[in-house]
Amino acid sequence: MNSLIPLIGMTLGQLQQVAAECGMPRFAAKQMCRWLYEKRATDISQMTDLSKPAREKLAKRYTIGIEAPLSQAVSADGTIKYLFRGCGGRAVEAVYIPDGERATLCVSSQAGCRMGCTFCMTGRYGYQGDLTTHQIMNQVLAIPQSLSLTNIVFMGMGEPLDNLDAVMQAIEILTAPWGLAWSPKRITVSSIGKMPQLQTLLSQTKVHIAISLHSPLTSQRAEIMPVERAFPIKKVLETLRQYDFSHQRRLSVEYIMWKDVNDSPRFAQSLARLLDGLECRVNLIRYHSSGLDTGEPQCSDTETMEYFRDRLNQLGITATIRTSRGEDIAAACGMLAGKPDNTDSK
Ligand code: SF4
Repeated sequence: MNSLIPLIGMTLGQLQQVAAECGMPRFAAKQMCRWLYEKRATDISQMTDLSKPAREKLAKRYTIGIEAPLSQAVSADGTIKYLFRGCGGRAVEAVYIPDGERATLCVSSQAGCRMGCTFCMTGRYGYQGDLTTHQIMNQVLAIPQSLSLTNIVFMGMGEPLDNLDAVMQAIEILTAPWGLAWSPKRITVSSIGKMPQLQTLLSQTKVHIAISLHSPLTSQRAEIMPVERAFPIKKVLETLRQYDFSHQRRLSVEYIMWKDVNDSPRFAQSLARLLDGLECRVNLIRYHSSGLDTGEPQCSDTETMEYFRDRLNQLGITATIRTSRGEDIAAACGMLAGKPDNTDSK
């Protein structure tokens, strides 16, 4: 078992402490950042602008920390699902989605999830633990397509705002000049609307936000998303109204469609009323059945979804139907479950 501490996932401030501890000058932290996040070193010995004794001292306690995926599955549509070591005995998944000029990575923030949404495979498996910033950044840095990624979405396993500190630190590394120096416009954090963490994310970052809404009716939403009882969507939307989504930052509203559950014109009307005046775009998502339950609701048919989209557009709400990706490898929205992770000994 490797007891060395990973450097990947550390901020400039944390690396300054590491430098001090190893007797290096403060500026060595910036040099380490460059090796970790720009030059993508895989071994401390490659950090050639640090003195040899400094590298040797560093390597006694630390490691770069890049951990290759445990396995991968490739979809017929080019989507690739990577399995990574997680925690609590469960692996986590990251999904690479190439789409023309875009190459998006959907990352996980927790092993499992404790939010208990009834339609979600991750939710069904319960909660095994929070990922560290190292484990989140490793998903981004360890895949072969890492250097060609254009976008990152926190829409994999887990509720990102239930692991806010690690997610915020990952966002800092992704966007800082000493990190990957990405624009926050390339990052989207998806949430079911956990407060007050949503306010922290909104005020301390400029990333795009996606809110999982799925039903405009309080009682129905509470049934499928227990979070509604603690943080009603109406309150979440009130908070979102205090921020500007008309320029640099985008707000999307995710709406999974189930046949005869939430897909009638009445629902389109209620949804439009709920979102009235809010600068956002609604993504209508096909439901991907887990195949575990015979009584499980089915996905709405294409005509119904198109009608629903058109109705929303008529009511002044921009809506599109999101293309499903990676369904054949269980990588599509709501299908991520992870597998038992035999390599994890925690
Ligand atoms: Fe958790 Fe998101 Fe699944 Fe809900 S939909 S259980 S928040 S992973």
